[in-house]
Amino acid sequence: MTDKEAFFGRQLPFRAAPAPDLTATPALKALGSRLQCQRCGHWLGPTDRLANQAWYCRQCLQLGRLTSQHKLYTIPEPNQLPKLANGGLTWDGELSAQQQVAAQSVLAHVQSQTNHLLWAVTGAGKTEIVYPALAWALGQGWRVAWTSPRVDVCLELAPRLQSAFADVPQTVLYGNQPQPYRYCPLTICTTHQLLRFQAAFDLIVVDEVDAFPLATSPMLKRAIDHAQKPTGCHLLLTATPGEGLQKRVARKTLAVTYVPLRYHGHLLPQIDLQIAWRWREQLGHGRLPLRLIRQLRAYQQAGQRFLLFVPHVADLALVDRALHRAGIAGGVTVHAADESRQEKVQAMRDRQVSFLVTTTILERGVTFPNVAVVILGGDDPVFSTAALVQIAGRVGRSAQFPTGEVTSYCHSYTRRVRLARGMIARLNLQGRRQGGRP
Ligand SMILES: [Zn+2]
Repeated sequence: MTDKEAFFGRQLPFRAAPAPDLTATPALKALGSRLQCQRCGHWLGPTDRLANQAWYCRQCLQLGRLTSQHKLYTIPEPNQLPKLANGGLTWDGELSAQQQVAAQSVLAHVQSQTNHLLWAVTGAGKTEIVYPALAWALGQGWRVAWTSPRVDVCLELAPRLQSAFADVPQTVLYGNQPQPYRYCPLTICTTHQLLRFQAAFDLIVVDEVDAFPLATSPMLKRAIDHAQKPTGCHLLLTATPGEGLQKRVARKTLAVTYVPLRYHGHLLPQIDLQIAWRWREQLGHGRLPLRLIRQLRAYQQAGQRFLLFVPHVADLALVDRALHRAGIAGGVTVHAADESRQEKVQAMRDRQVSFLVTTTILERGVTFPNVAVVILGGDDPVFSTAALVQIAGRVGRSAQFPTGEVTSYCHSYTRRVRLARGMIARLNLQGRRQGGRP
């Protein structure tokens, strides 16, 4: 990479020009009586000053401190990229008929450079559905970013894209990444990293668009808009769009492609609701709802493995003890900060344990064949509508075991649970029209 390439479509802060022929703008720009950070869009407050009286931005500190003594240097994106034959696609897998239809729709929207939502249920194979559109874009010499608010999604995705597009130079960007930046046709990065780009990408694929923190962060939404060229477009991927996106779809201000069936052609499992009055107080006394105990015992007798979701880390020990007392053994508890998290998840995969008691950390991205899912306290605010649908999606992911049970024990039938069941019902209605099996 030449020194110049580091500036293509990026905005990098320096106190003095690091090279000739760069376009420079003040990092903090005065608009009226206030200063706005040109990297993240934050409006500075009266106390955002250093001892030397320079102003600085608090919001994007993570990327290095930006002050009124800095300028942002850039070279407008020149697309000095190879036009790869076949878009560099080396993937030899095959799309199902349903995936094929969705892939054609995604491709058509990318070709016409329109923003677009791919709403694909968990287990639909949404990454592969995007391959034809991605190959077309790379074949045009487009610069493409595939971004997610979650670093684990990026880390899981990078090797998959590297093997599916083996001929495409790729760079992976996240906080503390070990590799230096490279100018490449395909950039895989956390949404935070897009703050370093400006009008760089012809296409931005936003994976898990509903995931924290993107859903609630105006800064990250702005980062996507800024990193995209004015002529560019974005493709949003999700299994569970939030209410804002659903409204845009309903008002027809955002085009959508639905994939209501999983790759094996089965419908999503519906959440079975069980009212467990005052389960929280019961748990405080060391007891679990009787129906829950019976259900789990029946699972154990049938050799059915399961995931038991609870709202909070503090609930894990209580539930674990109550299960022991009820004679339900053979499982382990796991949570986000658990040092043995990976080992425990692997033990479940290797069938060394018969169940996991867990918090919402396992809501996405984790696949075990043939598990049942039980949620204790699905009415707790920690379980958003999206989280409930994602958790239900842990069931029936493999073609060998495409069905299974999802049960939620709730003190009351909350709006979030109702919306989650409504979303699954609507997707399944569409799925049935496409010949989906229960
Ligand atoms: Zn900033």
